[in-house]
Amino acid sequence: MSGQFIPVCAPMLIGNEKEYVMDCLETTWISSSGKYIERFEAAFAEFCGVKHALTCCNGTVALHLALMALGVGPGDEVIVPTLTYVATANAVTYCGARPVLVDSEPKTWNLDPALIEASVTPRTKGIIVVHLYGHPAEMDAIRKIADHHGLFIIEDAAEAHGAEYKGCPVGTIGDVGTFSFYGNKIITTGEGGMLVTNNDALAARIRQLKGQGMDPQRRYWFPIVGYNYRMTNIAAALGLAQLEKIEWHMRRRIEVAAWYQEELQNLDEVIWQSEEEWAKHAYWIFTILLREGIGLSRDDLMLALQEQGIETRPIFYPMHQLPMYHSLRSAGGYPVADRLARQGINLPTWAGLTRTDVSYICQSLRESLRGCLMNIA
Ligand SMILES: *Cc1c(COP(=O)(O)O)cnc(C)c1O
Repeated sequence: MSGQFIPVCAPMLIGNEKEYVMDCLETTWISSSGKYIERFEAAFAEFCGVKHALTCCNGTVALHLALMALGVGPGDEVIVPTLTYVATANAVTYCGARPVLVDSEPKTWNLDPALIEASVTPRTKGIIVVHLYGHPAEMDAIRKIADHHGLFIIEDAAEAHGAEYKGCPVGTIGDVGTFSFYGNKIITTGEGGMLVTNNDALAARIRQLKGQGMDPQRRYWFPIVGYNYRMTNIAAALGLAQLEKIEWHMRRRIEVAAWYQEELQNLDEVIWQSEEEWAKHAYWIFTILLREGIGLSRDDLMLALQEQGIETRPIFYPMHQLPMYHSLRSAGGYPVADRLARQGINLPTWAGLTRTDVSYICQSLRESLRGCLMNIA
């Protein structure tokens, strides 16, 4: 098996991607209008069961548009989980607002509803919920707090296409949902993003903001400062082809995760993000947690796997550990996110992995663990 390399993520272009992209080139519809934009938006709205789906150029921009459309500005506060990809907090910062960082819940690793209330102030405008690694957050509990304080909810579903909370597609439960189609996400357009909402006024506002602020009734009249946050027809062509096969992409990831769970269930040193009974997990990246107190460094284990041709990643560094957000630490600290960040490893997860790959990864993991533990003893 030596000499092989298993990346942590890889796109699978197994459908009409080439045909649709070639169609853009042959018809010269390569910029940000064209039939693939319309078809991708319509198909994505149908996939989520939502009224409006709006393309944009990436998932970060989708968050920025959602926040602007909801009126977030300087002086406002927005609650975000500290354990997330940096874009969630950055989008709040772009608005001149302050991300208020909240710790994770230990089982699903998502925003802990029990800790939100204490972070609400008169400046709080809303909450960004992240469905981390594809597992939905506890939306009912979060909704209750949001309604009580009159806060909006944005669902950052960048990692959770097709995940469900109590049978509801994620992204459609809050006021606005945002998705990413970066190359390592569940489906990809290269770079790309989508916003979904059932709110007509919000959809209109988002459409105006992403199109340089142009007045929808009067071409080339710009009554507000807008942005060029549009997606190209070429990216949408890729997205439509990917979306046509999304059931396959989703099934394959669930299968890969099941293989991991089967192979690792007897390995005492390792646990993983739980799948709650009310959740349909999208398994963007299967992530394990080394048990604490086994006297083995997470980074040494990652290095050992790398030597066997297996790429892994550390779990996200929580926002409060990053230099620009360090000053936003709350007095109580973030014990759960800190522990996850110390012990978490992202294992290769993508639709093209075979059973043989997963067995090899798990066998290497077992051997590396045994080797490391023997070195200590
Ligand atoms: C990937 C990701 C984003 C940003 O998406 P881009 O398309 O890379 O800009 C935002 N939030 C989360 C949680 C992500 O994983």
